[in-house]
Amino acid sequence: MMTLKTIRILYVGGTIGMEQTPSGYAPATSLVHRIATWTTTHPQLAPHDIQVEVCEPLLDSANAVPMDWSRLASRLWAQRDSADGFVVLHGTDTMAYTASALSFLLKGFGKPVVVTGSQLPASIPHSDAEGNTLGAITCALEPRIKEVTIFFGKRLLRGNRARKRCSEAFDSFGSPHWPALAEMREQLVVNVAGLLKGDKTPVKATLKAKVQTPATRSFDTISVGLLKLFPGISGDLIAAAARIHPDGLVLELYGAGAGPAADPDITTALREVVARGTPIVGVSQSYSGKVDLAVYEAGQALAACGVIDGGDLSAEAGLAKIYYLHSIGTAPAKFAEAMRNSIAGELCPTA
Ligand code: ASP
Repeated sequence: MMTLKTIRILYVGGTIGMEQTPSGYAPATSLVHRIATWTTTHPQLAPHDIQVEVCEPLLDSANAVPMDWSRLASRLWAQRDSADGFVVLHGTDTMAYTASALSFLLKGFGKPVVVTGSQLPASIPHSDAEGNTLGAITCALEPRIKEVTIFFGKRLLRGNRARKRCSEAFDSFGSPHWPALAEMREQLVVNVAGLLKGDKTPVKATLKAKVQTPATRSFDTISVGLLKLFPGISGDLIAAAARIHPDGLVLELYGAGAGPAADPDITTALREVVARGTPIVGVSQSYSGKVDLAVYEAGQALAACGVIDGGDLSAEAGLAKIYYLHSIGTAPAKFAEAMRNSIAGELCPTA
């Protein structure tokens, strides 16, 4: 006999629920009725209790800020005991950032949290909205998947490993450094070996801790930047970026982890930024490919300036992780080590 479950859908915005307005596509609440139609007519999902909550104001995720990640995590924590699994309907533009931040903020949550959206609004014929929403609900019903994920184009990816790789294809998210956690075929096929293991935090204790211990620093008091190296970049730009975003910089390095270290303006700027207490984390600017600062002379020189080797961390997860580490009050002396260790499966720790 089928066990009936409760799934809670938090609709935060994105193309999935957008309607045409005189000033372009904008999120609308009409999506709620569509979801009810899809789920109540679906043979496997109809028996379950599927609830939808509209999180006003609905956002184009291009307008999302780090405080939105933190608010969403608090909302999920507050509702944790009211459902067996959660789906977050979100825009694709910053979905990988939000899913990464949630993966850290929901550590110990112990239930599936599946983020999805669509490339075409639900109101358009042949949209991917229905398939993605129903797929995400199916994943949220799967109790083995106790982590934050993104369901898109038939595949379930770890949230902090996913990256938006295409702005048009239905299969728009990839996970270059971690295999898909599940795939929707006739049934959902779960890749059990790929699921997150080792989060031994007792759920009840975590929940209590969350309720009782406010974060050391709120996300709106933290400012982290993301900067891509390019031929001709100046040390002044790096210094300015760190002045504007003093809590950390994710620096997108070339390929396997190299940069213009022959330019003394660059190395001086990097050294000074790190000495002032702004951590710099090097990730690769290639969609797929990890950083190893030991490989090139032009990488070792960056490490000598204090750049932290981000390994196979994505830029999106790197940015969210720095926010999270500050929010829990990570001491500056522990920052590099904390960046290199995995919190929620976001990277493969290097020796
Ligand atoms: N701009 C939209 C958003 O991120 C794009 C999308 O959802 O695909 O909200």
